[in-house]
Amino acid sequence: MSIEQLVRPNIRRLQPYTCARNEYTGDARAWLDANENSRICVYNRYPDPLSLAVKERIGKLRGVSAGQIFLGVGSDECIDMVYRVFCTPGTDNAVAIDPTYGMYRVCADINDVEYRAVDLGEGYELDAEALLAATDAHTKVIWICSPNNPTGNAFDPDTIVEVARRFNGITVVDEAYIDFSPLPSTVSRLAECPRLIVMQTLSKAWAGAALRLGIAFASAEIVDIFNKVKYPYNINVLTQREALRLLDAEDHVRAVAAELSDARDRLTAELVMLDTVEHVYPSAANFLLVKVADPDGLYAWLRDRGIIVRNRNRVNMCSGCLRITVGSESENELLLQSLKEYDTLRN
Ligand SMILES: *Cc1c(COP(=O)(O)O)cnc(C)c1O
Repeated sequence: MSIEQLVRPNIRRLQPYTCARNEYTGDARAWLDANENSRICVYNRYPDPLSLAVKERIGKLRGVSAGQIFLGVGSDECIDMVYRVFCTPGTDNAVAIDPTYGMYRVCADINDVEYRAVDLGEGYELDAEALLAATDAHTKVIWICSPNNPTGNAFDPDTIVEVARRFNGITVVDEAYIDFSPLPSTVSRLAECPRLIVMQTLSKAWAGAALRLGIAFASAEIVDIFNKVKYPYNINVLTQREALRLLDAEDHVRAVAAELSDARDRLTAELVMLDTVEHVYPSAANFLLVKVADPDGLYAWLRDRGIIVRNRNRVNMCSGCLRITVGSESENELLLQSLKEYDTLRN
């Protein structure tokens, strides 16, 4: 199916809002087009609606052209955008691996799109056949998250590409944790898969969660449609400026991501020695899914000591589990000390 056929009819017909800064780029002698206040100069000018400088920088980093990049207010905007562009409310559906990141379902619910959760394998492996079998003529989107939240494991890019090639609709791969993973990104596979969208974010390895910058890599055709549907000035000037600063620290970020991966493996080695810990799942991200004897009890016990982890005990296929972020050296130390104390008290 062509992208044009997959797009919602009302979006296909959409006449987008044309903002002043889209019509003229470059330097002008007088900007008298946007009713800004030119007499107080701090944040008086609208930002670049397409964030081109940031896209050029990200494109260079990931080996794609700026025209293949959409920027959203966090991945959350990118996720919502997929539904708003491709899924007709009350008619179309989306298929997703399960368990996974909660926003795919929340955005489906908000957009009145049926959400079909397909269990991962026993060891949280990706089952391409099961995902494809859950699709029908109204399935517009398949969601895959790799490395997956909350399970922590990454999927073989070849299996993801196989899904993207065999599925007639849009396949989205959320790579929020890709900088911690030993497996390569699927961004390099975009040319093979015209209906693939790869999402990344500045919120995790890049330490920019407060900036709210999500990235969707896709064909220029998909990016152009997303740009028509987004709010005209979605990425504010402070975010654009600070994003460039963060991206300039690429070497430092890579070194820290490697350090965090080492810290994760050291933390795993300590956790498995505790009586209360039944299993630590292998992780390609900056968090660990940990199966414990009494998850609700341990969660409350840690919370009472000011240590907040994520209780995943009531999540499908995660019963007994807490999800723990790899923190600073002192945070990890505090966690381990508290867990050892808990172990001693229970015995
Ligand atoms: C944290 C996370 C994100 C990040 O979302 P932002 O809106 O960019 O902060 C995206 N996807 C997954 C799976 C995550 O865990």
